[in-house]
Amino acid sequence: MNITVQKTNSPKAKPENEEGLGFGKIFTDHMFIMDYSVEKGWYDARIVPYGPLELDPSVSVLHYGQAVFEGLKAYRTPQGDIQLFRPEKNMERINLSNERLCIPPVDVDFCVKAIKTFVDIERDWVPHSEGTSLYLRPFIFATDPFLGVHPSYTYKFIIIASPSGQYYPEGINPVKIWVESKYVRAVRGGTGFSKTGGNYAASLKAQKEAEEVSYTQVLWLDGVERKYIEEVGTMNVFFVIDDEIITPALQGSILPGITRMSVIELLRSQGKKVTERAITVEEVYLAHEQGKLSEVFGTGTAAVISPVGELNWNGKKIIINGNQTGPIAKQTYHYLTGIQNGKIEDKFNWTQKV
Ligand SMILES: *Cc1c(COP(=O)(O)O)cnc(C)c1O
Repeated sequence: MNITVQKTNSPKAKPENEEGLGFGKIFTDHMFIMDYSVEKGWYDARIVPYGPLELDPSVSVLHYGQAVFEGLKAYRTPQGDIQLFRPEKNMERINLSNERLCIPPVDVDFCVKAIKTFVDIERDWVPHSEGTSLYLRPFIFATDPFLGVHPSYTYKFIIIASPSGQYYPEGINPVKIWVESKYVRAVRGGTGFSKTGGNYAASLKAQKEAEEVSYTQVLWLDGVERKYIEEVGTMNVFFVIDDEIITPALQGSILPGITRMSVIELLRSQGKKVTERAITVEEVYLAHEQGKLSEVFGTGTAAVISPVGELNWNGKKIIINGNQTGPIAKQTYHYLTGIQNGKIEDKFNWTQKV
């Protein structure tokens, strides 16, 4: 499939102050769109000026939430090249989400090509400062104008881009996390492993209540026993206990993070012991009591590595590593962002030039 390009006649000014970019607040000049119908499959791939969409008020996504999304970044290397980090993994994962949400699959290679073509057109929007990148948001949603509950026959796939800085104002400083005992995010058999807006809609109330008592995000427990650790709001989570680095195993209700996968591969390549297994919040608290819990950190594309400085579970607070970023989080952040930014040799072949 060809990608047609219609450039904007009124390009916007690029942000001057890259320090104040924040996350996901401004958008580039263009967007990528393609449509799906049962007769044509995915068709009419095009890059057009960024702007509002016109939708029939009855489109099914607005009523029943049949939609999936992805998140990845384009980085500027010291040589001025633009590169992506494992973009094929995002497109493989969008198909995993698609399958669960009854959305037709996309062609992984074509979509990686679409991302590259789009980023190439927006390459001047990739910011230059340390810690910044062009955040890419591919998403697919159901567009049938029909109120019956049924998988849609038509869809749109869109990619938008936002020059971004740090996800958390805290940066690589430790965040405070609320261990959620009242609300649950997902259960096995549900959509927890899919990147779909509905999971986030269900999480907002817990997130809001945690923020009200000045916690940055919530740590979800399993939806059945409220005992096993699942993940943090937008991140997978790792615990360092003795010399073991533990992350909850993927069992259906946890999002299979690409940063998680990369951190596991990276740490194992350094000879460290990484275990994917069930871990209870009780085990974490006991390890802390015994002085064995040295680090807790979250992993995700937006924040990369985010150290956790405090947990609060039913009013019981623990401070981790004296509220300092621990050595494993620090080294992993340095190494992973080094590969992403082209400052450290990519011996894993994770990056792709645009
Ligand atoms: C996207 C996401 C993650 C992190 O995945 P990455 O591929 O590492 O960015 C973790 N948890 C949830 C709920 C997510 O939506």
